[in-house]
Amino acid sequence: MGTTIIDDESNKILGDLIEDGETLIAAHGGVGGWGNIHFVSPSNQAPRKCIAGEKGEAKNLRLELKLLAQAGLLGLPNAGKSTLLSSVSAARPKIANYPFTTLIPNLGVVQIDGERNFVMADIPGLVEGAHQGRGLGHRFLKHLERTRVLVHLIEFPLDPKFGNPWEDFSTLSEELEKYDPKLAELPRIVVLSKIDLCNEPAKIEELREQFEGYEFYPISAVTKKGIKPLMEAVWRKVN
Ligand code: GDP
Ligand code: MG
Repeated sequence: MGTTIIDDESNKILGDLIEDGETLIAAHGGVGGWGNIHFVSPSNQAPRKCIAGEKGEAKNLRLELKLLAQAGLLGLPNAGKSTLLSSVSAARPKIANYPFTTLIPNLGVVQIDGERNFVMADIPGLVEGAHQGRGLGHRFLKHLERTRVLVHLIEFPLDPKFGNPWEDFSTLSEELEKYDPKLAELPRIVVLSKIDLCNEPAKIEELREQFEGYEFYPISAVTKKGIKPLMEAVWRKVN
């Protein structure tokens, strides 16, 4: 985790505190005064003269907590982000079958083995217009700023007439591009979630072709299928 220190009046970012014990000067003290001792002279051993110091700066600060997740889970509401996070870490985010269950970003440590672990954040669902502050996503997108890889979940469409993974993917990519082009440039792993709902493996291969050029991992957080290779792939990108 880290904290961003912001001047509440000017909205200027004064800096980030990330490491334990790190310091930052948020407001400077005033220039010191000159005491009587400075005015001692042979003819005046006990001067009354002095120059007062200046007042120090006064600021109202806003401290914003930032999650320093190395991997960020991205996806439209209901894509299965919270479920995935809880299946690979000890995090217990809220899970429900409606959008915006996740109101605060959740953070989980994914332990691959004794030596390898990384922090993954479940970012609340974004909707179109999130970059303009519509929806809940905007407030939380900042938590992805230090992320090395985006794990972009798209859900397996139960009814292909109503769900189009490529469209979902493009919608969110556009949102991200508008919000922060730098973030949109991060390496992305595409995850097709909820494949336990699919009884035609050929459909999965069809989707894989649509996402040509991307690393593509079909998974089910329920049956755990595909989870291990996905986490290995995330680890490779994080490092
Ligand atoms: P989020 O909005 O992206 O965080 O989505 P959630 O993790 O809250 O999941 C939304 C819904 O999809 C919930 O009802 C989950 O139980 C369900 N779900 C998530 N992952 C899977 C999965 O792998 N298989 C199935 N069948 N359902 C899932
Ligand atoms: Mg969620």
